[in-house]
Amino acid sequence: MKGALCSLALLSAAATAATDINSYGNTDQVKITHLGLDLTVDFDKKQLAGSATLDFKRIEPSASTLVLDTRALDVSDVQQHVDGQWTAAKWAWGEKSEALGTAMKVQLAPHADQVRVNYHTTDGATGLQWLTPAQTAGKKHPFLFTQAEAIQARSFIPLQDSPSVRVTYDATIHVPTGLMAVMSAENSQKVSPDGVYHFHMPQAVPTYLIALGVGDLKFKAMGKRTGVYAEPSVVDAAAKEFEDTESMIQTVEKMFGPYAWGRYDLLILPPSFPFGGMENPRLSFITPTVIAGDKSLVSLIAHELAHSWSGNLVTNASWQDLWLNEGFTTYLTYRITEAVYGKDRERMEAVLGYKDLQEDLAAIAPADTRLVPDLTGRDPDDAFSDIPYEKGSLMLTEIEHKLGRKKMDAFLKGYFNKFRFQSVSTSDFLGYAKDQGLDIDRLKEWIYQPGLPKGAPKPESDAFDKVLAEQKQWLSGKEAASDVPFKDWTAQQQIYFVSELPDSLTQAQMSELDKAFALTGTRNTEVAHVWYRQAIKHDYQPAFAAMSDYLRHIGRRKLIVPLYQMLMEKPQYQQMARKVYAEARPGYHPLAQNTLDEILK
Ligand SMILES: [Zn+2]
Repeated sequence: MKGALCSLALLSAAATAATDINSYGNTDQVKITHLGLDLTVDFDKKQLAGSATLDFKRIEPSASTLVLDTRALDVSDVQQHVDGQWTAAKWAWGEKSEALGTAMKVQLAPHADQVRVNYHTTDGATGLQWLTPAQTAGKKHPFLFTQAEAIQARSFIPLQDSPSVRVTYDATIHVPTGLMAVMSAENSQKVSPDGVYHFHMPQAVPTYLIALGVGDLKFKAMGKRTGVYAEPSVVDAAAKEFEDTESMIQTVEKMFGPYAWGRYDLLILPPSFPFGGMENPRLSFITPTVIAGDKSLVSLIAHELAHSWSGNLVTNASWQDLWLNEGFTTYLTYRITEAVYGKDRERMEAVLGYKDLQEDLAAIAPADTRLVPDLTGRDPDDAFSDIPYEKGSLMLTEIEHKLGRKKMDAFLKGYFNKFRFQSVSTSDFLGYAKDQGLDIDRLKEWIYQPGLPKGAPKPESDAFDKVLAEQKQWLSGKEAASDVPFKDWTAQQQIYFVSELPDSLTQAQMSELDKAFALTGTRNTEVAHVWYRQAIKHDYQPAFAAMSDYLRHIGRRKLIVPLYQMLMEKPQYQQMARKVYAEARPGYHPLAQNTLDEILK
């Protein structure tokens, strides 16, 4: 995932499962291996209804209970498959907590080999977002998408919801005729005339990678094995913006071995998608806020694609090991960016990443700045800060500096090969690193100590040095804003210029910048974000109407939450923030609503 938010609220819960503290599943006794879904998408009721058939294997031969994770599911009936017959199974709800949902315990007959749960989702399905036609680009048809990472799959499928559980799946999905359904599986490129879609996912994936999107979608090919699914009015712009996807795939293949998943397509979601992107296999889910018109924000695609190796192929076994997914992926993203867009662009993005990391290091409790935090009793979404991403990536950069690039690539290729289609823990990584002759004490310092270790690499960028020099000239009055070559700069340079503006800026200076660079209302959502932060900080009200539009239009948490936070910190803007939120809230994803309800309460 990319563009998640650092949210460190503690939720009380008591996990009892021995294997994954964020799941009730008894995976040490019984483990599900395959999922058969038959679900009807009901836009009127905002419900998925149907059945989930679970194949499982007994880890303990005498095991007589299957414990599943659920959240706010309405279960009507449970059956089990015994000696070729389906019969009713006894079941009961088990433990319950706000962080983990509700355990569901199914009693297994000695020869049972499958369990079928008939159920429907409810309004409490945190993994589903139902959009009205008004919330889409085309305004004519509703839209549904799922977001299962970290532990939301349980809110639309009863299953053992842990990244240590890998399942293959088949699905039959019924949707209103005219709409298209796509999943993290083999997909059709055409609308089905009867609204019924069959999916097959032959490769075992962790449960957080099960994904479904339904809407007025059109497919457009970009390369031989790459394409875009999007609403008709968006599909051409998206295919143009992301046309380098094929060359990104070839770049990673050269370094780390073949792409293992067949096709790689993108699903462009409506703007309320709360994240930047989600690496659902074969079909990454992508925010439209990175369609800037100049490919300036496409490192997001590199990130989601890189997960096809780090995360989807080799998966963190628990959410405490999240850095194995996100740190490796962030490192790979920088490498792809360098290969496809050049070293300058990569250095700039690394400096911006380092800035974000420093902000989180300053804001987060030291214990949570370890690469492996303690998530006991917490929502694993708490782990999604820049720590696993940027700190994890910096550690790999340090290894590269020590080994040299050629040996580094062999090290990573070996890691992806050794653990392909497996879920691994931090100690698996350390075991591999030890076998490869790395300094384990140093790695442990990175992983188990807070903050950054002494001597950690610090990225630098000449292109940013030029930006600061120009800024200094302007601030000292030696140059007018209109003489600053802002419009010739890359989006990264523009972001850097705006985010490095001093606290002492006057209204007149803000206004001069705005006039010279047309910042208020800019189409680049990342440049807009840093500009609106400055507007709030410096009480520059001419930007507020455009900022309110931005907040109403976009649901990506990384872009909107900091703005609401800053508004609420100033008493004079609280009323305005509440008013904008009241209008925008119905269009936000449940996860964004949860975050913002806390901030605006
Ligand atoms: Zn990611």
